[in-house]
Amino acid sequence: MTRLSTAQKNIAYIGLGSNLDQPLSHIKQAAEALSQIPQTQLLALSPLYQSKAIGPGSQPDYINGAAALETSLPPLELLHQLQAIENKQGRKRGSVRWVARTLDLDLLLFNNITLETDELTIPHPRMTERNFVLFPLRDLAKHLSPALTLPDGRSIINLAQNCNDDGIYLANS
Ligand code: ADP
Ligand code: MG
Repeated sequence: MTRLSTAQKNIAYIGLGSNLDQPLSHIKQAAEALSQIPQTQLLALSPLYQSKAIGPGSQPDYINGAAALETSLPPLELLHQLQAIENKQGRKRGSVRWVARTLDLDLLLFNNITLETDELTIPHPRMTERNFVLFPLRDLAKHLSPALTLPDGRSIINLAQNCNDDGIYLANS
């Protein structure tokens, strides 16, 4: 019997954020760029939120969203694709984290895997404390996969329900 080899289909969730140079258009441009990643389909883009910046000094508000992708790329290759999109959209990489940026793309979840390397940690380490990650991710989950959980079994919808809603609003997109 001949076995047809089919590329493995993975589901990945991406967090998008921007707080410089017309953030809304950066997020929309990034969503389009996500749909152009090789071996990858953009399944859905969440509603977009406006949120107060955390981090050093005073910064403009962020626009945040989340995207669901189906991909046959492995996690690290997907991260590199995300970084290429960040770079193309003018992100300046410096030593200071959490500074204002034109585009931040985080790999939040990849199937049900956990991974901890110098370059890539999955699930994204700070995602469970951040309303600007959990709220758009919850919106996607409601739409695509209500039983979406972290690898440790915690439900995304429950985490979002228990997360504060300080400083976050649906954006007028
Ligand atoms: P943050 O997104 O927490 O504000 P940065 O985007 O500046 O911080 O951090 C980028 C660094 O984080 C990259 O060097 C990348 O290798 C690392 N990193 C580790 N895990 C992830 C992940 N799941 N998604 C995106 N970047 C990650
Ligand atoms: Mg990042």
